[in-house]
Amino acid sequence: MAQHPWLRLLAAIALLSLLTAPAAGVAGSYIPEVDYLKVPPGQSLTAEQALYSNQWQRLDDSSPNFGYIRDTVWLKISAGAPETVDLLEVQYPQLDHLEFFLFRNGQQLRHQVTGDRVPFSQRPVRDRHFLFPIEQTSDADYDILLKVETQGAMQVPLELWNSREFYETSSVEAQIHAVYYGILITVIFFNLFIFSVLREPVYLVYVLSTLCYLLLIASLNGTTFQMLWPAYPSIQNQAMLLVVPLAVVCTLQFSRLFLKLKQTAPAWDRLVRFAIWVNLLVAAYTFMTDYSIGSRLTVALAIPSCLLLTILGPYQWYRGNPQAVFYTIAWGALTLGSAATGANKYGLLPNNFLTAYSMQIGSALEAILLTLALAARLYQERQDKVVAREAELKAMAARRAAELRLMDHALHNPVTGFPNRSSFEMTLNDLMTRAAEHRYGVVVIRLNNLDSVTKTLGHRNSDRILELASKHYNAAIKDLPGVLPVEQTDAHTYFLAALDPQTFAFVVNADQAEAAPRAVISMLEVLRFPIDYLGMQIPMEVRLGVAIFPEHGKDANTLIRRAIIAEGSERAAERGLAYYKPSRDSFSADRLTMVSELRQALITNQLSLYLQPKMSLATDNIVGMEALIRWPEKQDSVRPDEIIELAEQTGLIKPLTRWVLEQALIMRSQLLEQGRDLGISINISPNNLREPDFPMFVQKLMSSYKGVQGGITFEVTETSMMQDPANSLRTLQSLNATGIPVSIDDFGSGYSSLSYIKQLPASEVKIDRSLVTDLATQSEDRVIVQTTIDMCHSLGYQVVAEGVEDEVTATILRSMGCDMIQGFMLTPPLPFGDALAWLGAIDTQRRVTG
Ligand code: C2E
Ligand code: CA
Ligand code: CA
Repeated sequence: MAQHPWLRLLAAIALLSLLTAPAAGVAGSYIPEVDYLKVPPGQSLTAEQALYSNQWQRLDDSSPNFGYIRDTVWLKISAGAPETVDLLEVQYPQLDHLEFFLFRNGQQLRHQVTGDRVPFSQRPVRDRHFLFPIEQTSDADYDILLKVETQGAMQVPLELWNSREFYETSSVEAQIHAVYYGILITVIFFNLFIFSVLREPVYLVYVLSTLCYLLLIASLNGTTFQMLWPAYPSIQNQAMLLVVPLAVVCTLQFSRLFLKLKQTAPAWDRLVRFAIWVNLLVAAYTFMTDYSIGSRLTVALAIPSCLLLTILGPYQWYRGNPQAVFYTIAWGALTLGSAATGANKYGLLPNNFLTAYSMQIGSALEAILLTLALAARLYQERQDKVVAREAELKAMAARRAAELRLMDHALHNPVTGFPNRSSFEMTLNDLMTRAAEHRYGVVVIRLNNLDSVTKTLGHRNSDRILELASKHYNAAIKDLPGVLPVEQTDAHTYFLAALDPQTFAFVVNADQAEAAPRAVISMLEVLRFPIDYLGMQIPMEVRLGVAIFPEHGKDANTLIRRAIIAEGSERAAERGLAYYKPSRDSFSADRLTMVSELRQALITNQLSLYLQPKMSLATDNIVGMEALIRWPEKQDSVRPDEIIELAEQTGLIKPLTRWVLEQALIMRSQLLEQGRDLGISINISPNNLREPDFPMFVQKLMSSYKGVQGGITFEVTETSMMQDPANSLRTLQSLNATGIPVSIDDFGSGYSSLSYIKQLPASEVKIDRSLVTDLATQSEDRVIVQTTIDMCHSLGYQVVAEGVEDEVTATILRSMGCDMIQGFMLTPPLPFGDALAWLGAIDTQRRVTG
């Protein structure tokens, strides 16, 4: 994209140099011989005294330049031939005070006073340079005297002209200047426009610095005085003083922003900032001092500042700053141009178009190059943004895919791909709320021979057989009147769900199915066919149990449980299929007694709290304990999750959780007494989260155990919270606000919605045992666990893997970046005393080995 303007620029320069080539060395003008006389301050001479003085000296240089002096300088110019010359030009427009004397045969003919301390209108000829007409006739002798006083540099470049020639040349010069000013003004407006759109300071600073150059060169040329404030010489002089330091300040600031010095080179940035401040101070000081000191100071300061800018570019280029390439070339063009102009002024370079205008060419090139660089930078930043946005979208898609995979895993059996228990329960609950006016039959199909098949043929074969069996059963039930799909996709319709390896289930509209007994009988026959596997006919000993909504239950859980009870009944064993009958349900009577026993156990403190340690994979240190309920008396008959289920169903969960929390607090303070600062995690039931007084109770209890504060974590399962997300979330947030960390339990076992999880005030996620157990053998599980760990980390959660039973699994988890593990590999849950002993044993072992 940069090629076009480059070429055009080169063509323009070539064209200009052709156009103005005759401007150098015109026949109608020449540089006169000059004599000079220096008069120290305090003395003065009249023009006649000067003319007849015997102190005149011949000037060696072609152009009078005395540097910074306070003397009054008189110059004597012999006027040339009257027919060729009629105009004297003084080309340095910054001189303060000029007096022009024309003598004819020793008689003063004319006297004119001008300079840049008087309004522009008082000039003999209104031009940006000083012009004095010389009217002479060939019959007399003429002398020209110039008296010059100035506070700036005493340089008085002179040229004698034929006025027609002068005006022709100066009109060409004016055109060149117009082109130059035009380029800079275009650059200024272009960048101003970009700034107005983007609001990025670098563009504004660039506009200001280009404006300063424009003013600087126009002031040096005398154009600003002529065009902007002809009636106010004092403004002109102050502007001259200000424009140099301001140009330097803007350029320095631009370099800072453009090269991004603050980020890329802080030391240089400090240096440049320092230079900016010094220049600003000097700019302010020019208001307080006289012109001669002011101008010397600003010029003296500009030199090191420019030097700084000159080394900055190449140095940054060398350091690999990509912006520095453009910068160096652009600044180089300006420096080279200025140097060429300087050299030309001192006669070191021949006078031609290129050397005379090299400063203008250099600064125009600089302005254009940097504009290109800014445009390129704009383009690059846009490009970077697009790339970043694409990466973000990709990450989002990956996250979404991981979520879908998790969900898919959560809802399907890994071996057969059929919907699993969660999926079946969801469909069932949905059906019962959506269309509760119907009766539904929940039917379980149990394969009573699977165990011996597995023992005979091995897991691999029994998995294949299960796959065949599921397809076979799905086909057998799909023609049953009233059967309802569990899941329907474009590719499959699943009527069957896999509850566990040997139990399947489906749901039918009970009235429709009962109206078609023949179809039911023939379905039963098909279901009982043995499975054909590698030529073997494998009998599965299929038995069915049925529970009806709403008679036998109003929620999926109860219905499934009762269908399973029916399947296990003697009647099913006899006939292959049985309905649930409360009288056949030995569980319900047991249940009643168990509830009162549990209540009793709570009151008489017969329950016990075991501890299972949690180890950090990074340090191999034990970092916490999970508290798990036990009912020692019923160790063999009731599993802990059954205790909890019972408690939840009967309202006993409220006192139970309170008991657990209090025990955990006591254990925590005992651990602290032993010098073990280990946090204890306790499991909270979703029912607790719905108790209005739960947060208050927790706070009260916690504050009566002041010393242990901060050591208790609450574990909640995310699926359980889904029953009442809004309330649970509110309770958790109020608990979290009082400083209790939350851990998300059993992650990956149900439908895991990241968007919900993200809202939970959690700090830890525990990956469910079902995903961890087969990590060593199931590559599918490895993918899920890895994405889960990565996702959780990206959300800022610590990750714990539960159910780690062997070293192989621990090693895999460590390589996946999992933070902590828990499981039988370390130890099963232990009573408090044993847990203490276990911790002690670990310490000793450490001391021995480490
Ligand atoms: P959970 O919160 O997921 O607890 C982890 C369960 O995994 C515990 O079962 C633990 O003994 C078991 N486990 C630990 N490591 C391994 C391992 O390596 N392999 C295998 N196969 N199992 C391992 P537990 O103690 O039977 O508790 C079962 C569930 O009952 C708990 O699951 C929790 O949901 C609930 N529960 C237990 N105590 C409480 C309690 O005090 N309050 C509440 N609300 N729920 C509790
Ligand atoms: Ca737990
Ligand atoms: Ca768990």
